[in-house]
Amino acid sequence: MGLAKLEKRVGFIGAGQMAEALARGFISKGVLEASSMIATDPVAARREVFQSFDVKAVTTNVEVVKESDIIFVAVKPQYVEPVLKEVRGHLTDRHTIVSIAAGKTLASLKGAAGDDARIVRVMPNTPCLVGETASAMCLGGQANDEDAENVRSLFSSVGRIVQVDEKMLSAVTGLSGSGPAYVFLVIEALADGGVKAGLPRDISVALAAQTVLGSAKMVLETGKHPGLLKDMVTSPGGTTIAGYHELEKAGVRAGLINAVVAATNRADEIS
Ligand code: NAD
Repeated sequence: MGLAKLEKRVGFIGAGQMAEALARGFISKGVLEASSMIATDPVAARREVFQSFDVKAVTTNVEVVKESDIIFVAVKPQYVEPVLKEVRGHLTDRHTIVSIAAGKTLASLKGAAGDDARIVRVMPNTPCLVGETASAMCLGGQANDEDAENVRSLFSSVGRIVQVDEKMLSAVTGLSGSGPAYVFLVIEALADGGVKAGLPRDISVALAAQTVLGSAKMVLETGKHPGLLKDMVTSPGGTTIAGYHELEKAGVRAGLINAVVAATNRADEIS
């Protein structure tokens, strides 16, 4: 599906896994041309990856800043502040800074980039690597609605993004940040059930994963309450309500609620 083209130049400081996933997504969904992007990385092999899909790759972070409107800081969290301090003298009012680093607060980003910087903090999750991220963003510094709109249109090419206040980011971490691990557990357990009931492992895993994918799509595309969708597939005295009753007896619902809350609390502790 093609999305509206963004008339901005986008740079990546750090050309690692996340930057690559984002850049490839922007190109494949038509949001940006490869020629509108530039990346920097000290590792030659990472620059070569970007060059392989026609994105200019350079060795200095300042060059990326000079050639970009929107700058993704896509280095590991401990390098974010040093990198921002390094390029700070070259930031102007045309720049938007987007940090995807886990745990780096808007206050610390602003401290490193300066009071005038327009900063957007994004909390992506790993399915970004396959173009299906569930991300959240919050605005800091002088960031405005146009910055939010630009970041929204970029992330719409690699999944979905919602805007929240920064105080909600721990809950986002507990839900969508850690959530893939919970869903992997659910898929593995469903597949185990299939195997116990007599299916070969590979068929069981494929059916379990596709069932999760399809069910998620039904929630997103119909907009119907998940409880209503569940009611629609549970016929009176049928198979599904028999299985569903076992999930309720096992406390699956409370287990998932507790998982999100525990991960949220842990995110608060370590931030
Ligand atoms: P990565 O290690 O694959 O990429 C980081 C890149 O930065 C490396 O290629 C490294 O060579 C480069 N780099 C190091 N120092 C640099 C410098 N001074 N200037 C320019 N480049 C430099 O890491 P990643 O998995 O892509 O993660 C990037 C950021 O995304 C992290 O801050 C992480 O917290 C965040 N994040 C990642 C995921 C994920 O699923 N991988 C999910 C959520 C958030």
